[in-house]
Amino acid sequence: MLVMKFGGTSVQDAAALRNVAQIVVSQRARSPLVVLSACAGVTNTLIDAGQKAASGKSEEALAVFASLHLRHNAIADELLEGQSNKAKELFETDFTSLRRLVYGLSIVNELTPRALDQIVAHGERWSSMLLALALEQRGVPVTPVDARTVMITGSEFTKATPLFDVIEEKAKQILLPPLNEGRIVVTQGFIGSTKEGITTTIGRGGSDYSAAIFGAALNAEEIQIWTDVDGFLTADPKIVSDARKIKEMTFTEAAELAYFGAKVLHPSTILPAVQKNIPVRVLNSRRPEGDGTLIANTAPAYPGCVVKSVAYKKGITVIGIQSTRMLMAHGFLARVFEVFERYKKSVDVVVTSEVGVSLTVDNDSDVEKIEEELARFADVKVEKNKVVFCVVGERMKSTKGVAARVFRALAEAQVNIELISQGGSEINLTFVVDEAAIDDAVRALHQEFFSDDFASGNLFESIVAHETAR
Ligand code: ADP
Ligand code: ASP
Ligand code: MG
Repeated sequence: MLVMKFGGTSVQDAAALRNVAQIVVSQRARSPLVVLSACAGVTNTLIDAGQKAASGKSEEALAVFASLHLRHNAIADELLEGQSNKAKELFETDFTSLRRLVYGLSIVNELTPRALDQIVAHGERWSSMLLALALEQRGVPVTPVDARTVMITGSEFTKATPLFDVIEEKAKQILLPPLNEGRIVVTQGFIGSTKEGITTTIGRGGSDYSAAIFGAALNAEEIQIWTDVDGFLTADPKIVSDARKIKEMTFTEAAELAYFGAKVLHPSTILPAVQKNIPVRVLNSRRPEGDGTLIANTAPAYPGCVVKSVAYKKGITVIGIQSTRMLMAHGFLARVFEVFERYKKSVDVVVTSEVGVSLTVDNDSDVEKIEEELARFADVKVEKNKVVFCVVGERMKSTKGVAARVFRALAEAQVNIELISQGGSEINLTFVVDEAAIDDAVRALHQEFFSDDFASGNLFESIVAHETAR
């Protein structure tokens, strides 16, 4: 069987959903389990409505829900032509309870993570219901499954941890029988529930992760991530207009890039796939005839191609910790990291010298408290608004001169580099720059590594032609 996950832009309106229905039906023989995100923008809008309600702006919150209701009714009318009553009745019930919730939240003046999950989980349920009805209307046998009965998680609302063993059992019980009967199963990404049945979500962008978890639980032949670009690209196409599609990459390369900001894949997606060695394929729902990017355990070495892609993560804080007193003293690093451990703060890049250590964290929560604690035994300098860049390629570890090319290209583009680290896996080179230098840095690196067809050994495909053909 096959897992097919469609992101928000692939289900943004009736035309997009119709297109998804067509793609799914074309794969019917491969027993697809379809995992959907909410229609584009809906999760953000639901969060916004919840926040408005809890900050006393009830009227504004109601207006936001009213426009979402209209949008979903309009999609149902256009998609289900004359048979939209069932969908609209369900929307009516949901929006009635959301309206009630607005009054509740405005009284308590607080939006707990648990209440937020209850609100945002509607987005995925609405989009998947619409698709299931559209498939049914085409006469395809379809079984809608509420993902909350399978995706059992801990109770860390808004970022709940999936409980793999329980999920595997539930997936076999609930998802497998209809798939074995040749039915298409439609479910939701991103949402889950605790063992007690309370709705949770597994973190923003988490539908990719849901798809991979379901795929691993069912030993799928492939996990397909359908999105709005041709595949995993050499850089973010929003910055580099001539970014190119990578035909094949390894799990390790994809994991590093996703972790360092390549939004096309949620950073946790790769783990379940690796555990069961299931290939992941990133595909474009607007150009389904393409073969996308194949991510697997190994990828062939293309002559001349060393670097596969460049990613970056914004909103980074660099913490510099120096202590001449501690010079050469053992236990210094342990003391530093013990502070981060206590605040459960994960550290991305670490660079040490004899008199200190510099490291990066990817959000500001607790940074002031951490700074205060570190200042008891060291000099601390905190710098915000930085970006971590990551240049990735399996063959970087066995190729000379890559670092020199990276830093020369950046120097020529007048980009100042701060921390430099070659990741433990040796397949990435990571460094920090100022947020203002993002565009210059991405373009310089892209020009250096991906502009030459011959040197990159045909691993990359141009996407420009497709974009203009659309
Ligand atoms: P979906 O809603 O389908 O999950 P996302 O917006 O989460 O889609 O991810 C797709 C987007 O990721 C693309 O539109 C693109 O702008 C962005 N992106 C960033 N880096 C890359 C990359 N290296 N390759 C492809 N897309 C990337
Ligand atoms: N709809 C959720 C989000 O916007 C999950 C996803 O799209 O992956 O974060
Ligand atoms: Mg996404």
